[in-house]
Amino acid sequence: MTVERTPASLGGATSHGHLLELIRSSGGLSRQQLLAATGMSRATLYERLETLLRRGFIYEAESLEATGGRRSRKIRFDDRGRVVLAFALGQTHATVSVTDLRGVPLRSVTSRHTISGPSDAVLSPLIETGKSLLAQGSAEVLIGVGVSLPAPVEAESGHVSHTTTIPGWPPDAVAKAVSSTWPVPHIIENDARAAALGERASDAETVVYVKVATGIGCGIVVEGSILRGAHGAAGDIGHIRMAENGPLCRCGRHGCLAAYSSGRAITDLLAAGGITDLDAVSAAAKKGNPDVARVLEAAAAVLGRALAATITTLNPDRLVLGGKIGSIPAFVDQVRARVMADVVERIADGLTVQAGDSGDQTSLQGLATLVMRRVFAAEAIDSAVSDFTML
Ligand SMILES: [Zn+2]
Repeated sequence: MTVERTPASLGGATSHGHLLELIRSSGGLSRQQLLAATGMSRATLYERLETLLRRGFIYEAESLEATGGRRSRKIRFDDRGRVVLAFALGQTHATVSVTDLRGVPLRSVTSRHTISGPSDAVLSPLIETGKSLLAQGSAEVLIGVGVSLPAPVEAESGHVSHTTTIPGWPPDAVAKAVSSTWPVPHIIENDARAAALGERASDAETVVYVKVATGIGCGIVVEGSILRGAHGAAGDIGHIRMAENGPLCRCGRHGCLAAYSSGRAITDLLAAGGITDLDAVSAAAKKGNPDVARVLEAAAAVLGRALAATITTLNPDRLVLGGKIGSIPAFVDQVRARVMADVVERIADGLTVQAGDSGDQTSLQGLATLVMRRVFAAEAIDSAVSDFTML
């Protein structure tokens, strides 16, 4: 997903890293446009471009539009052959994908697993899948690895927190498995947060992404950045208490949102009728099964009520409901109806509530964006260039 920015918004930014950021975010600029956008002297600009060219960060491409009777050459960010290895882990399945830098999968494998097992048993087969997917490429350069999972993640360290989802996993299990296999930068992120970032259409958008699958997760993106909160727990809505004496939640408390509206709560209610997994819920909803419709409606009403507070606090452009339950059209309609009924008019006006991805595509896209931001951050490029100069 390309982020359009006007060159002028980065005017005056003149380091190698900022120059590359300008070229990357604009989708390509001519030397003239770069001179105008940065205000740099021709000599300095050309020297820095030369360094970036030599390091393979940029290349010159013939532009299609002719200017003043001759074709202009554009300086573009060189994403050719550069790939990200992304792992989107859910509670019951995982997708491993080699993607381009926009997060578009080039090769993927989705497999079933049980994430509540020991970390080694869950991660080892996925690492092997990643190795084999990378081995199938030719002339590709792996720039980084991204992993999303349905658990709280500390952004700086990539450590996962203990939850009912992955009991007993060492906090650094994922980071260790990845970094001991691939010596490239890695990003570990909560799945709903990665999906929220992948879902945003531009950096101007405020998006609330709620994943309703086995559990419930929520990611919030404001002006292109993931909202994490003071202690990294922003958006952890699954265990908001909706009623004092509500149903027992897996966390041990009564009346949590997850005990009403998660996929697990829904399949618990439908199990007696033979509907025991999320795919079966989705298929039965499509066929108009009345029991499924009734259970989904009740679950959506509680979720909508909980989200009304989130929506009022953030006043987003879009509320996107993803995951196997979240993306069921009838579920989305009912959450939308509840939210719109519960918030004031000036919040409801201009709010779009829509279905997102039922699978992992938006998480993969978000992971690719996070890896890109880490690897091509202006500071990282400046330091790479200065290391190179010293050699
Ligand atoms: Zn709970």
